[in-house]
Amino acid sequence: MTDEEVNLSGAVCPAPIQQRDRIVMGHGSGGKLSHDLIARKFIPAFDNAALRAGDDAGIVQANICTRLAISTDSHVVWPLFFPGGDIGRLAVCGTVNDVAMMGATPKYLTAGFILEEGCALETLERVLESMKAAAAEAGVEIVAGDTKVVQKGKADGLYINTTGVGIIPLGVEIGGALAAPGDAVILSGPIGDHGIAVLGARGELGFDADVRSDVAPLNHLIAALLNASEHIHVLRDPTRGGVATTLNEIARQSNVGITLYEQAIPVRPAVRAACEMLGFDPLYVANEGKLITIVGREDVERILEVMRQQRYGGESVLIGEVQSKSPGRVLLKTAIGSHRIVDVLLGEMLPRIC
Ligand code: MG
Repeated sequence: MTDEEVNLSGAVCPAPIQQRDRIVMGHGSGGKLSHDLIARKFIPAFDNAALRAGDDAGIVQANICTRLAISTDSHVVWPLFFPGGDIGRLAVCGTVNDVAMMGATPKYLTAGFILEEGCALETLERVLESMKAAAAEAGVEIVAGDTKVVQKGKADGLYINTTGVGIIPLGVEIGGALAAPGDAVILSGPIGDHGIAVLGARGELGFDADVRSDVAPLNHLIAALLNASEHIHVLRDPTRGGVATTLNEIARQSNVGITLYEQAIPVRPAVRAACEMLGFDPLYVANEGKLITIVGREDVERILEVMRQQRYGGESVLIGEVQSKSPGRVLLKTAIGSHRIVDVLLGEMLPRIC
């Protein structure tokens, strides 16, 4: 592979990690290069069972009857404000969602700020107001924080790291390794809104797309889901790398095949138009307020009905099934009935999207 090639997702693909001795933008993509970096550098350095599970949050046993889900995420989105959201809402929702994807009830967050010298106090105040509102909506408290300032030019206004802790209710077992042949794949609504909204805010579309980010806390939707069925096996939010990368992770963790029905996957017309113009596949574009759940076939109708009654689940649909024929692979069943392989995101598609 040459230094920069473009793959089918529209992503620019740098050379593989083993040929490089420095970090490239693709290491932050959430796709193949991120996975390689984690597997080769971070897991060997910090190795333990919680990390090795490879889920959205690490699960630890706090005492004999309490399991905690702990997740952390740094937010470097540019610009800081975009249609439908901002870095503050993203920083709260991103971590709330990663904790909730383990079936946990998110309770407490911490927030660390890296502020650039010269950042307007009014900007910081807007971000804090937004975090306050998102935390109230999710029902979590921000109980510790940190502030560092770096010289002008060493950061883009501000960056935020959030860490979240949640309690996993007794009897709840959710994880990326629990998908089983025969299960159904459900998506909570149209894909690609967040990535396209941020690109639009950067002025990179060349036209007014009228797309708003979907950034939202999904913990109440998940609580309703867990209440509705005992057959919720996997929950994951398709953020960086999109639906395609997220489903590949699950297919590998569970050693199953996943077949997607192309025609069932909802994409708003404005997002589809922007993707066509930019040469992107919406399956790889980031979402910040959507979830994928893999559930026992017997409860699909009830689960869809419950999801559609929830604020952030109104457009939930069945998009695929789990099978045993192509372990570790995601296949897309096209409109004409053929199948094509959907791989993980290679390289970098949209840097600094979250
Ligand atoms: Mg996640």
